[in-house]
Amino acid sequence: MQTKYIFITGGVCSSLGKGLTSAAIGLLLEKKGLKVAMLKLDPYLNVDPGTMSPFQHGEVYVTDDGAETDLDLGHYYRYTNSSLSRASNATSGQIYNTVIRRERHGDYLGKTVQVIPHITDEIKQRIINCGKQQEKTDVVLVEIGGTAGDIESLPFLEAIRQFTYDHRSDCLNIHLTYVPYLQAAGEVKTKPSQHSVQVLRGIGIFPDILVCRCEVNLSDEVKEKISLFCNVNKKAVIEEIDVKHSIYEVPLDLHKQGIDTLICELLHLPNPPVDLTEWETIIETIKNPKGSITVGIVGKYVQHQDAYKSVFESLVHGALAAGYKLHIKRFEADKLPTEPAQLAKAIEGCDGYLVPGGFGERGWLGKIHTAKHCREKKIPYFGICLGMQVMAVEFARHAVGLEDANSTEFDPDTKHPVISLLSEQRGVQDLGGTMRLGAYICDLKPHSKAHKAYKQPQISERHRHRYEFNNNYKEAMEKAGFIIAGTLKGEALCEIAEISDHPWMVGVQFHPEFKSKPTDPHPLFRDFIQAMITHNKSLHANE
Ligand code: GLN
Repeated sequence: MQTKYIFITGGVCSSLGKGLTSAAIGLLLEKKGLKVAMLKLDPYLNVDPGTMSPFQHGEVYVTDDGAETDLDLGHYYRYTNSSLSRASNATSGQIYNTVIRRERHGDYLGKTVQVIPHITDEIKQRIINCGKQQEKTDVVLVEIGGTAGDIESLPFLEAIRQFTYDHRSDCLNIHLTYVPYLQAAGEVKTKPSQHSVQVLRGIGIFPDILVCRCEVNLSDEVKEKISLFCNVNKKAVIEEIDVKHSIYEVPLDLHKQGIDTLICELLHLPNPPVDLTEWETIIETIKNPKGSITVGIVGKYVQHQDAYKSVFESLVHGALAAGYKLHIKRFEADKLPTEPAQLAKAIEGCDGYLVPGGFGERGWLGKIHTAKHCREKKIPYFGICLGMQVMAVEFARHAVGLEDANSTEFDPDTKHPVISLLSEQRGVQDLGGTMRLGAYICDLKPHSKAHKAYKQPQISERHRHRYEFNNNYKEAMEKAGFIIAGTLKGEALCEIAEISDHPWMVGVQFHPEFKSKPTDPHPLFRDFIQAMITHNKSLHANE
């Protein structure tokens, strides 16, 4: 079958949930039996988001092949089964970099190198390559970052205009727009959408489907107006109203309005009925929980909506597996007191604590003392990447008695470098794309908590770090009850640490949050939540 291409652009303003919508459409097409590939095009000039602050960009999502990518790929992973790799995300920085390197190499000798056709050709090539990363791709879904009208996304829009022109019957343009409700006027306004579509039409892109983000239902009259002014069929005006319970309702809502059927009709694709029972069950579980638990996240970027996106979602998946509702309390690590009684008071009210990944010293001590509190009070603790390093340094300081134990990331001259630079990182100068990145295989220690969770001796997880547990301290730490529960296949490198004589204190050097789905919760998040439920029950057993 000829590969089809769907382009998803955004209008009016950012943060409308274009990534989520794209992922939901991807899921619906998969349910039609189609093989989907997903591509995110980002107009910024960074080669990848790896060098951006989480405050600027949110989470950096890492793929198996070690690409540092946009967080929308996390949505794609959670909703679809499409292969995700380096070919699934491209930025202006990457595209210009490729073209300029080629120019220096002499590949365009004699020609003037220009945005059109050289940059646009490279964009079109990336769209085709994305479909080729897996066999027999039926549909490539391309999400274009930014908002129609932005200067920097113009080359991308021009590229999809050309692409649509070249493959007219195999392309579809979906525009995600915003239809605000004006409280004072008591009505919804279609003008911003009209203008956004006009901008696209000025560029030569004619949307086939409009997905309208809104806070209230759109009446037939409003849909007719949008249809007329924006030049799309009325049944192609789809509303995407704010969800009530969970973002996992989005595919169900879109399906109810027939978006999947419409797409298949317009692209002449097979159009069987879809079965979304699995997703309906998820929503039912969310609506009718057995109980609720609260997790405390102690990190540096907790106030930013998207900085720990996949961590938050994975926790939700873990709670879903248990049929529980999850509350998340966020604690800014650098604001926490270190005096034990004060710290306990500051973070009280949670059934377990999670310290996520991070860089830089701010909040380090707050995290260490959180880990100490959890270890001593036997409260479930889950440390991810930096959170595992926190756990190791805390244990060395307070259980082994190495008071000055530290990570060389924060004190290069520490007397006890319990966490030190990976040997392969010595001499690395550039900061972009140079960490230990991507999937590595890890051997699990029999009978460990990790082994119990994964139920298999070997696993593969994704990494993004420069520092590691220093094995010079292995013996002393193990003697005091620190367990190395997972090591890099065939090597001594510590990938998982646990604390003996504790209900559930697990730290992982990798990022399990990149591999959790609502339909397939990650085993470590599932067991962490289970440990929190058990802890909560034991607390209330005597009431
Ligand atoms: N800063 C730590 C390191 O580079 C942890 C990184 C992380 O949490 N992703 O090793």
